[in-house]
Amino acid sequence: MEKTLVILKPCTIQRGLIGEIISRFERKGLQLAGMKMIWLTDNILSEHYAHLKEKPFFQRIKDAMSVCPVIVCCWEGVDAIHVVRQLAGATNGRNAQPGTIRGDFSMSVQENIVHASDSPETAAIELKRFFNDDELFDYRMNNLLATYAND
Ligand code: GDP
Ligand code: MG
Repeated sequence: MEKTLVILKPCTIQRGLIGEIISRFERKGLQLAGMKMIWLTDNILSEHYAHLKEKPFFQRIKDAMSVCPVIVCCWEGVDAIHVVRQLAGATNGRNAQPGTIRGDFSMSVQENIVHASDSPETAAIELKRFFNDDELFDYRMNNLLATYAND
């Protein structure tokens, strides 16, 4: 089982898409391990987007990520990191496949609905960045989720 970080970006909150997007992950069969609303600071965004610090749009994405609170979620499941990236779709909403979250809801590179961790290493770092240990929950949902690992 893996855990991965998803952030519902301010554009998602502003457009009233919170339920729609959470529903995508839920219906897929991922298990919600943690969720909260937070207002991101410039400091935490500089850390989170450090890989883009040389880009001309660095300050712009940090500003866009702090116009209102975001919702951070931890989703759990077999291959959850890959599965969530697949559900999110390509970074640029205009290139993302229809049927993906970005493909269905975004016409923008920047305002692309969700952040999703891109590897086991970044998922571990990003979950630590946004959640304390006591904010992530292990619980049993049903027997099926555990059996997928044996597919
Ligand atoms: P992701 O992993 O698919 O989210 O993409 P990246 O890690 O490469 O970029 C992080 C975020 O920066 C993206 O989700 C976009 O919101 C934003 N971003 C990436 N490329 C661009 C760009 O060319 N212009 C702008 N304005 N924002 C971008
Ligand atoms: Mg990324």
